[in-house]
Formats: sequence, C-alpha cells, structure tokens
Amino acid sequence: MERKDVFKFIEENQVKFIRLQFTDINGTMKNVEIPSDELDSALDSGIMFDGSSVEGFARLHESDMYLKPDLRTVAMLPWTFDGHRSARIICDVYNDPETSFDGDPRYRLRLVEEKAKSMGFIPYAGPEVEFFILPREKGRPVFEFLDKGSYFDLLPVDIAEHIRTEVSVHLEEMGLDVETTHHEVAPSQHEVDFRYAEPLFAADNVQTVKLVIKTLAIKNNLYATFMPKPFFGVNGSGMHVHMSLFTLDGKNAFYDPDAPDGISQTMKYFLGGLIAHAREITAITNPTVNSYKRLVPGYEAPVNIAWSKGNRTALIRIPKARGKSTRLEYRAPDPSCNPYLALAVMFAAGLDGIENKIEPPAAVEENIYRMSESEKIKRGINKLPSNLKEALVEAEKSELVRKILGEHIWEKFLVLKEREWWEYTTTVTEWERTKYENI
Ligand code: GLN
Ligand code: MG
Ligand code: MG
Ligand code: MG
Repeated sequence: MERKDVFKFIEENQVKFIRLQFTDINGTMKNVEIPSDELDSALDSGIMFDGSSVEGFARLHESDMYLKPDLRTVAMLPWTFDGHRSARIICDVYNDPETSFDGDPRYRLRLVEEKAKSMGFIPYAGPEVEFFILPREKGRPVFEFLDKGSYFDLLPVDIAEHIRTEVSVHLEEMGLDVETTHHEVAPSQHEVDFRYAEPLFAADNVQTVKLVIKTLAIKNNLYATFMPKPFFGVNGSGMHVHMSLFTLDGKNAFYDPDAPDGISQTMKYFLGGLIAHAREITAITNPTVNSYKRLVPGYEAPVNIAWSKGNRTALIRIPKARGKSTRLEYRAPDPSCNPYLALAVMFAAGLDGIENKIEPPAAVEENIYRMSESEKIKRGINKLPSNLKEALVEAEKSELVRKILGEHIWEKFLVLKEREWWEYTTTVTEWERTKYENI
C-alpha cells in the first residue's frame, strides 16, 4: 500500500488503533499500540521505543530505538477490543531514523534476500505450521487430548474444527492466502499451510498465523501450543518449509526440463549447501530444549542428514511436482524457531552451495529410521544434532551462522540459549526421582 492508501484504509475500516509489530530474538512478537491519528508522524520519523526492555535488543545506554512501519503489511486485526477495530503494521527496527538495527531479525532476513537477488534469484518459502489445540485451565494448557482424530479426518471427531475454519476465514481477511488447513497425525494436532511468498513475507505470515491461532484458541477457552513435542509417543509439531528460487525473469531456477529428473544443477548445489550446513543451522531452526525431543526416529521428523524424492524420513524431500512448482521441502524446522532467522540461515546455506558449487550426496530412498549405523557410516549419512547443546556447539563454530545472524544476534542468542541449556540440565525432574529413588 502507498501512504495515501493506508489513510484511506484506516478511514474506510474505522480503525481506532494501530498495532506496530516486530519480533525479538526468541521469535516472540511484540507490539506497541498507537491511536490511528498518530500514524502520520509515525511514518515521518518512526516511533521511538525503549529497546532495552526487549529480549536481546539494545543495551541500556543506547536504548532508544525506532520502529518503521512496512506499509506492505497493513492488515485489519480480525477481532475487536471493546468494540474498537485495530489494524496492524509489521515494522522494521532502526537505531535512528536512518540506520537499520543490526539485531533486528527481519533485517537479517532482508539481507539474505538481497544477497539472493545479487546472485540473480528471487527466493520463495512456503512454511507449513503444525500445532496442538489443548484444553485450557487458569490460563495454562492442560496436556490432555481433545480428540482422537488423525490425519485428514473428516468425521466430526474434531472439536477444534471450527477454530480451524475461523482461522482460515480470519487469515484470508488479513490478506493471507491459506492453501489448506487439516487435522494432523497426532490427536489434537492441526496444520495450516499458506501460499508460498518471498521469505520476508513468509516469515511475517508465520507470525500472523501464530497470533491468530493463539488468539482464537483463547476466545474459545482453549490453548494453542506451538511447542515442538508436547507429548511423548505421538508426532511432534514441525514447521516444514518448501523452498525454491526463481530467476529475475520469473522462471523456476530449480527446474530443468532437459534433466532426466527435472532437477536443475542450481537446485543440486542448493541441496548440497543445505546438507553441508545442516548441523550448524539447526540451533536456529530448532532452538529449544524440547525441539530435540521431536527429532527422533518414528514420528515423521528428520534425524539423519539426507535428501530424497519420496521418503519422509529424510531431512530434505523433493515433492513430485515439476515446472513452476519444482521445490524442496526442508523438514527440520519447528514452530519454536524465530521464522526470520530460520529462513535467513536456511536460504544462506543453500545459496552458499550455489556459490561454492557444493555437490549433494546421492539421494537416499530407503527408510533411514531402519538403516543400521554401519550402513549409515558407509554411505556418509550424518546426523542432526541430538540436543540443544550439541546444536549450539555447531552454531558457535559456524562462520555462516555468525555472518547471517550478525554479531549482535549471534552473541545474544548463544548467551540466552546456553542459559536455557544450563537451566534444563540442572533441573531435577520427576523422571529422575522415579528412576533413581531406590538407589
Ligand atoms: N509432524 C511431523 C513432524 O514433526 C510431520 C508430519 C507430516 O507433515 N507428514 O515433522
Ligand atoms: Mg503439510
Ligand atoms: Mg504436516
Ligand atoms: Mg510437509
């Protein structure tokens, strides 16, 4: 939208308040509300806020920061508060009205998009967001299933079904192109997929989807959680991302009609880059202690670093579609990630493969969950990190991660996550007490 269109939009929709949104290092969405008649001056000079109170942002002595609304993201919020309608605008974070803040996750992703464009590519991402809808008590989730539903269920077993429909309706109203919503494999588990977009907007969309789902769950006295593995013994929640590159003149750079499998050399190098960097970017795509309880055999989540054409036990799958839809699906990420940072390191890894002509290993079409360790070693199939600590060690060694996150986020991220790991490893759990009480 252009500036004048925004004011028309505000007028037509009788918008009282505007929520200016941005995302902290952890991926949590923040917002500052302004009355809509303040927008004019906000657009002139940005809105000042205190960055020192935002996780991982500014230090105390340089805490004045600015939000600059990105007018391409103007949308009505689908709910009202006391009858007042609000709109949201996603913002970029600035140090002063002129310079981008190095620690703004959205800025880090913008830099990777620019890098792709300088190489002649427009990147696209299509995330698939999985989550559980659970009962709610005293504002907290109750870890019990609401239904016995499973994948694509149609029978009215699914009491969260109307929430899914409401979610689609509201997202469409907000300008998101929802492709499918369905019940997932585990009881009480659901998925929302929306049309692919440039990574920046895809990440914005993930944030919007999470906000809408969480809000609608609350309104129905339920609780939506995006934690990766809320229950042992059933599938966890992933955030698979479909990735492709187009040339600047609009052709899918991953498609080669002359290659026997339709896969271009560019795509092969991109695959090679993702595989080469998979271990080091996992701390960003799977940033919580709980993330690694999802990445275990038996639940359609990846464990081994391999690619394949059909096999859902591989880290990277290449769906059958060719032509304009040629793409790969990176299956490691989960919805606890910061989507801006996750997409930034994933695309950077693929682009690095193109730049350095990294050939991928051979595809693996067998069920890797069932492959013996010696067979995996023979075929050079490496593993994803098996816990947050291992992932952090890899991220800390990684030049790519350091460069893409930028010094500010890289340092803060490692400190925050080391602390999280320390808390986890020093907590004495019920499991230990039960296991060891007789010693
Ligand atoms: N929930 C699975 C995961 O953890 C994926 C299941 C699916 O989409 N087929 O990645
Ligand atoms: Mg899906
Ligand atoms: Mg799914
Ligand atoms: Mg998928």
